[in-house]
Amino acid sequence: MLRRIAPAFSSFSKANRAEQTLPVSRADRLVSVYEEQSAGWFWETDAAGQITYLSPQICAILVAHGLDPIGAKFVAIFHPDASAQDVQRSLSYNLTTKTAFTGFPIRIVSDTTNFLWAISGRPYFDAAGVYRGFMGSAADLMDKRNSQTEIRRLAYSDGLTGLANRAMLNSWLEQSLLSRSSGFNPTALMLMDLDKFKYVNDTLGHQTGDALLQQVAGRLQRLTSDTALLGRLGGDEFQIIVPQDSSRAEASGLARSIIASLSQPYDIDGMAIQIGCSIGIAIAPEHGGTPDELVRNADLALYAAKDAGRGVHRVFTDNLLIAAQSRRQMEDDLRDALAKGEMHLAYQPIVSTQSTKIVGYEALLRWKHSKFGLIGPDQFIPVAEECGLIEALGEWVLRTAANDAAHWPDTVRVAVNVSPIQFSNPQFPKIVASALATSRILPDRLELEITEGVFLNTDTHSSQMFKALKNIGVRLALDDFGTGYSSLGYLQNAPFDKIKIDKSFVRGAMSSDSKNALIIAAIVSLADALGMETTAEGVEAQDEITLIRKLGCSHIQGFVYGRPMPLESVMTSMGDPSLVQPIGYSISRDPRVKVFRSAKLLHSARETEIQIRNISKHGLMIEGATLHPDDIGKEVFVELLEGQRWSGNIRWAHKGKAGVYFEISLPNVFPESTR
Ligand code: C2E
Ligand code: CA
Ligand code: CA
Repeated sequence: MLRRIAPAFSSFSKANRAEQTLPVSRADRLVSVYEEQSAGWFWETDAAGQITYLSPQICAILVAHGLDPIGAKFVAIFHPDASAQDVQRSLSYNLTTKTAFTGFPIRIVSDTTNFLWAISGRPYFDAAGVYRGFMGSAADLMDKRNSQTEIRRLAYSDGLTGLANRAMLNSWLEQSLLSRSSGFNPTALMLMDLDKFKYVNDTLGHQTGDALLQQVAGRLQRLTSDTALLGRLGGDEFQIIVPQDSSRAEASGLARSIIASLSQPYDIDGMAIQIGCSIGIAIAPEHGGTPDELVRNADLALYAAKDAGRGVHRVFTDNLLIAAQSRRQMEDDLRDALAKGEMHLAYQPIVSTQSTKIVGYEALLRWKHSKFGLIGPDQFIPVAEECGLIEALGEWVLRTAANDAAHWPDTVRVAVNVSPIQFSNPQFPKIVASALATSRILPDRLELEITEGVFLNTDTHSSQMFKALKNIGVRLALDDFGTGYSSLGYLQNAPFDKIKIDKSFVRGAMSSDSKNALIIAAIVSLADALGMETTAEGVEAQDEITLIRKLGCSHIQGFVYGRPMPLESVMTSMGDPSLVQPIGYSISRDPRVKVFRSAKLLHSARETEIQIRNISKHGLMIEGATLHPDDIGKEVFVELLEGQRWSGNIRWAHKGKAGVYFEISLPNVFPESTR
């Protein structure tokens, strides 16, 4: 049924004289070899465009598709590939205008996926110059296309998780924002950051970290719909683009289920690992119409989620942008603050529990902003750390404190706070040595306060740093102990001279239902065993001094012995050799919260409507009851909530006001808004 001719190859022979003598059977053989190797196929039509010849293997394929090609119109069997839009026109154009063509992608009419060829052809004419039809060849494109797809896939996917990568996410976001022009069709952008991932990676190794990321990717894939694009930006950062009609409520709902799912334990080689996830969301067009704007705003929302304690999601609001802008302003102002002389140090006394003498001062940085007044270090130190200014600020603090201490008695030390960023600078020991040399104070009089943050850097570095500093002879204190990670391991390996017990443990240590006193006692015995001193921070009341002494802390620092004060005040008190006197409240008390709220007082079989003015864990200040000094000590009931009464005692009564004390803790019955 197939008519085999090989006119296309007559051109071969023209190139070479010797070839011209080749028998036709040779050309036939070459054609056969070419066809059999499936490298391509030949085709021929008559003047009417009907197929008169096709190589056997393409015929077989067409027959398998239920087509009978010989005699059929070429354009009824083959279609231009849809991806090449202008080919449709050009192919029929070339066929009708009888012009040659090369490399047009075509497919079988009934099959749009499996076969793809690049077809070439030219018209042929008989000896009289009459048009007889088209003939040509076709080459397989599928292999080439597949490898291009593979290259594309590799370029656009994340090698570790197989999810989309940053490049892919960017182009998707651009596309989904562009296609919105047809109508209102919000795009939600969700940025995710894993909490504690760095810790897992640093402590359990990269292999475990990689396995963890793969499991995270798997969970995310199960949670996101097919219309969303999920990808990894790098590290432990993931992104989801939800392109269609993603309302705020839906995005929040998805964020909540992601956080819940990712916080479940992971099993990695039989080890249970738990991490968390924070998410920031921005929705177009409300939160930005361009990819850049949307990404920035989702990023700000992510920052807010981390700020809120992590493990939550936040949707962008304008306030976040305003806060970021004022932070930028702070950064700018901070850059000039030193040069403008806006920084100074305040010194807070550190008192020995044994001798009740001041044995040192902690230098605390203060910023007097020309416009905004005094700004606390809790506000600007993190900014300085983030924008790289902490090195310069920290060095200034170190040098200034050492110079100031040079004017103090030799028995009084100075303590300086050191940021983990300063600590990770290999030049830091040199800076310390230089500050000591300039001020000419003995190394042993300088105490560097370091937080657990320094251990998050790789441990080899921190142990070298410890060694270098101990060689210089300065003292080292572990600050804010108990607020960070599990610190016992650090204590064993680092040469600390002192542990500073964080004020959160001292707070409330006096109250009977608190375990804080037990914790302080445990820290003290640990420190004793390791030959370290202990400072209790944040001691405010005099009865706390007694307790701290009883618990065995060697030093006390807190408002009870003095607030941070300017250098001049330190110098005047230095002349006074007497022991320091505690100041401040004699009795520690629970923090009070101001409220404005009515309740009922039941007292001597009477019921009175009262106003509550402030509340603490064990007490209320009330107004409106007619109570007299001889009521002091009497039992009363206060109905804080409908039908719920608490029994307490009158502590004092004066001018229509009274204090009621409760043996058991009061519940937290006031919502934040009424406070
Ligand atoms: P810190 O090192 O824990 O310093 C003690 C903080 O507790 C000081 O706050 C001090 O004023 C406050 N404080 C002391 N006694 C009491 C008390 O009895 N009750 C209460 N409620 N608070 C008390 P400040 O000066 O605001 O400093 C806050 C933090 O800023 C410091 O915490 C320290 O981490 C950081 N910081 C201060 N100066 C520097 C510095 O020069 N460099 C670095 N890197 N950080 C600094
Ligand atoms: Ca400190
Ligand atoms: Ca501290």
